[in-house]
Amino acid sequence: MGGKNATEVLRADAAGIAQAARILNAGGLVAVPTETVYGLAARADRADAVAAIYAAKGRPDFNPLIVHVADLEQAERLVDMDERAAGLVRRFWPGPLTMVLPVRPDSGLAKAVTAGLPTLAVRMPAHPTMRAVLAQTEAPLAAPSANASETVSPTCPDHVLKTLRGRIDAVLDGGASADGLESTIVALRDDGTWNLLRPGPIEEGELSEILGPCENAMTSSIEAPGQLARHYAPGKPVRLNATSASSDEFHIGFGDVAGDWSLSPEGSLTEAAARLYAGLHRGAESVRARIAIAPIPDDGLGAAINDRLRRAAA
Ligand code: AMP
Ligand code: MG
Repeated sequence: MGGKNATEVLRADAAGIAQAARILNAGGLVAVPTETVYGLAARADRADAVAAIYAAKGRPDFNPLIVHVADLEQAERLVDMDERAAGLVRRFWPGPLTMVLPVRPDSGLAKAVTAGLPTLAVRMPAHPTMRAVLAQTEAPLAAPSANASETVSPTCPDHVLKTLRGRIDAVLDGGASADGLESTIVALRDDGTWNLLRPGPIEEGELSEILGPCENAMTSSIEAPGQLARHYAPGKPVRLNATSASSDEFHIGFGDVAGDWSLSPEGSLTEAAARLYAGLHRGAESVRARIAIAPIPDDGLGAAINDRLRRAAA
């Protein structure tokens, strides 16, 4: 599949899903809907397919990929799961939780997937279309967000096409992503401790209920290079905590701050998360030179929203 020209838009019906699976099985690239954001999928066991992901995104090759599995058995062939991992699986899979665990020497994964790390990030997604695709592919699927590296993440096919049209084989149209934020990433350490590498739809407090208290949340270690400060950049200056805006700013509102367009007039963090990237895409496309964003409370899902906003503003 290599050289890309037209990017096919496939409906998420039986025929479209079967076509997506055929392209993936042959080593091609397909953007697939998930409950978090759209993922750029390729089979994780083929070096050429995985290399094509990095090339299409312009992603630095030291930034490892999340591997998506159809079921628990497939995950167990890739990583060593302990009791803590089993507890998280029971509570949160399928769903927006990625676990970083020791990768098995016989995983069969292309080396570039882990970027040379002894660990693998693995997730079982809940989105019915992604699950149907996984059920029809011969291998687990590596899938980072389906956008050019460092740009705003995609929550619908139009967002994907903005930066990847002509660079990937197809996009499977499953409508808007319900959660709207990338998965929570948790690393389970050999010494029994754990770290939150990326806040997301599953909150730290929910993880603590199963894992016990988190000793040092949010490491800034290069181990998670996707966590570098600059990310999700809309391509123009972003100002945070803006209760009002000037005439050259596209103002993204929340709650009582109406703005030009609101993440959630009612002040719902769930709604704001689902609409966050659509708001940043709108701001990027607006004729205004800059973007201003209303304050978002930092509790619950707000912590993950503010994490993304800080990176968009960096
Ligand atoms: P995305 O590009 O949105 O799919 O982000 C994937 C995230 O997972 C990035 O922040 C990666 O750095 C992180 N990641 C993937 N594999 C690992 C790993 N083995 N250890 C730590 N972080 C990882
Ligand atoms: Mg990304």
